[in-house]
Amino acid sequence: NRVCRLKSRPFGMSTRENFEIADEPMPTPGPGEFRVKVHAVSLDPAMRGWMAEGRSYVQPVALGDVMRAYAAGIVEESNHEAFRPGDAVMGLFGVQEHAVSDGTFVHKIDPAQAPMERWVGGLGMPGWTAYFGTMEILHPEAGQTLVVSAASGAVGSLVGQIGKLRGATVIGIAGGAEKCRYVTEELGFDAAIDYKAEDVEKRLVELAPDRVHMYFENVGGKIGNAVMHRMATFGRVAVCGLISSYNETDPAKVGYDAGAQRSILVNRLKIQGFIVFDFAKQMREAIGHLGKWHAEGKLKMREDVREGGVDAFPEALNMLYTGENFGKLVLKL
Ligand code: NDP
Repeated sequence: NRVCRLKSRPFGMSTRENFEIADEPMPTPGPGEFRVKVHAVSLDPAMRGWMAEGRSYVQPVALGDVMRAYAAGIVEESNHEAFRPGDAVMGLFGVQEHAVSDGTFVHKIDPAQAPMERWVGGLGMPGWTAYFGTMEILHPEAGQTLVVSAASGAVGSLVGQIGKLRGATVIGIAGGAEKCRYVTEELGFDAAIDYKAEDVEKRLVELAPDRVHMYFENVGGKIGNAVMHRMATFGRVAVCGLISSYNETDPAKVGYDAGAQRSILVNRLKIQGFIVFDFAKQMREAIGHLGKWHAEGKLKMREDVREGGVDAFPEALNMLYTGENFGKLVLKL
């Protein structure tokens, strides 16, 4: 069983030296447990936070533990009543080829409805995040403008599409012409801003002259500040992620600037951070809506599947922080 364990805590971007990747004996399920053959490992921006010490919404991965990861696979051996050999499942199985589980936080999935990688993407945790952050925090209204950063990614691409389904005008912010073309031409966003080539604040003045009513924050930093400067009176901000700061080692370079802080006051903004699991009790609702919209062709999803097995994990993960991924980043085993 090929396994990736956290060996040391990174400073800045994680490197291969932070992990121990080795062959280990095949784990055997005990009473009430089952073993999964993992097919698709989800690479998530949050992984950088899980490797770090300090107060967060979950305990960090302990040194020596298997690197935490969402993954999808097939049950191959079971002493559990509800999970039988051949069942397709999604859960926190870690970066490894085979995992033993007692069923906690494991969902059954339907490979006939969508491929494995989509169940850790738009139909899985990133999809639930987009759903709750948009529906429960931003409450999109027809005629209002919604801006989303990291717009072509796993979460952002769905935020914009859900916003459109609710009648909002949607502007995406993404890096590069190809990602911008994708969100407007293929996903139906009203406009896109290429933050690598354009001045975000200036473009927002042109594209949203009545200012921004809702901002789904995935990035923070300069992009976050630019959008905050353009918020409308009583605007709403859902703080989902701050990826531009995850590998930043200089605290002075992180945070809202004076203009953004002033905007919070003068525009009386409502800003709420959230973690997808705050909505655990409503998970069935998200799964139902996402599945239905996907089946009806109303939600498009894109995955960026990388090969190379467990050994490719350290380099593949960093693609999220350089923007090399285009769509939900998944490692195929
Ligand atoms: P994506 O698929 O969007 O991939 C990450 C993207 O972020 C990159 O492709 C890149 O896009 C962009 N990016 C990376 N670094 C920077 C930077 N310095 N400045 C601007 N953009 C950058 O990832 P996800 O959809 O999985 O995650 C999006 C956000 O949602 C993250 O912040 C993540 O932490 C958060 N999240 C939060 C959850 C919660 O419960 N609160 C749950 C899941 C995700 P580009 O090329 O356009 O720059």
